[in-house]
Amino acid sequence: MSKRIDAVYIHIPFCNYICAYCDFCKVFYNREYVNKYLEALDKEIKANYKGEIITSLYIGGGTPSSLSLDELERLFNILKIFTLSKDCEITMEANTDSLTLDKIKLLKKYGVNRVSLGIETINKKLQEVIERRTSKESIINCINNLKKEGITNINVDLIYAIKGETLDDLKKDIDFLISLDVPHISTYSLIIEDNTKLKINGVKNIDKSIDREMYDMISSILKNNNYIHYEISNFSKKGYSSKHNLKYWYNLEYYGFGVGASSYIDNIRYTNTRSITNYINGKTILDKEIVTIKDKMFYEVMLNLRTNKGIDKEIFKDKYKTNIDDIFEYKDLVKDKVLFEDRKYLRVKEEYFYVLDEIICKIMVK
Ligand code: SF4
Repeated sequence: MSKRIDAVYIHIPFCNYICAYCDFCKVFYNREYVNKYLEALDKEIKANYKGEIITSLYIGGGTPSSLSLDELERLFNILKIFTLSKDCEITMEANTDSLTLDKIKLLKKYGVNRVSLGIETINKKLQEVIERRTSKESIINCINNLKKEGITNINVDLIYAIKGETLDDLKKDIDFLISLDVPHISTYSLIIEDNTKLKINGVKNIDKSIDREMYDMISSILKNNNYIHYEISNFSKKGYSSKHNLKYWYNLEYYGFGVGASSYIDNIRYTNTRSITNYINGKTILDKEIVTIKDKMFYEVMLNLRTNKGIDKEIFKDKYKTNIDDIFEYKDLVKDKVLFEDRKYLRVKEEYFYVLDEIICKIMVK
């Protein structure tokens, strides 16, 4: 039995509406499909889960809250198979229109203790571009309900750099999110992905220099409001970083179940099919990639550097039986004050988070 895996991701691909920028694995909500999907999900979990103690369970999508009350109840009954630690972080993604009070009570009953809400923007002009329709009232109402029911560990997602967005628009969105008094905010610069409605309609990315200004503005306002910039796109109040997502950034192994999900088990990355029909018919795995030790070390560097803690050199040595500077050439970046290094950690200085990809390209394998 693998003792290392303690994280589970569950993908629920159903959505009540399809946003113009979305390239996630999703389909329109359909009751008949949900029924067959949950059956297939149950089978996939039973065939693969080996009974490890799970310390973080993340139900993402899609929009898990698009499921009806009885479908959610069925989902949580399927998930009962997992042995959860006492302090297990159980997150569910939701949108504020479909997360009714009844559903919140159900989440509470099944131990969900963290909710991640896709808000993105409350600016009507920008909502039209990305085709989302969430209202301020629905957001405030949903967050009040969550807090009343005792689910206070809440994340809200912000999308910025939308065509036509100004710094002033962004500031209003950030101020609104701060006014919600939630402990976690995830931010995403809008990327126009292939096969999205935005791409097909010829919408272009915002100018790079404005994107940079927006990134800096978000970071500065949120930090002034006691949010810690703990990962390049994520901010949290002290003690509220996402336990589950940190496992990805620390390059730890995890189970992923559902259409389009990926798993990382015993040095193999599995990617599930993105076809819901294939998934329902049991043709689950699309791809398998064996991760060599060299790849693993590289992923480790790439992912760890996304966080404000950076690479724990002692953990690296413990895992790979070698010092990080025996494998990677990075000392010039330390000299140039792009990377910070002490006896225990190697990390990117926060002012260079924005150009992390370029920095990673400069870290050479010896
Ligand atoms: S962005 Fe979220 S809610 Fe919108 S279509 Fe994609 S998965 Fe569904």
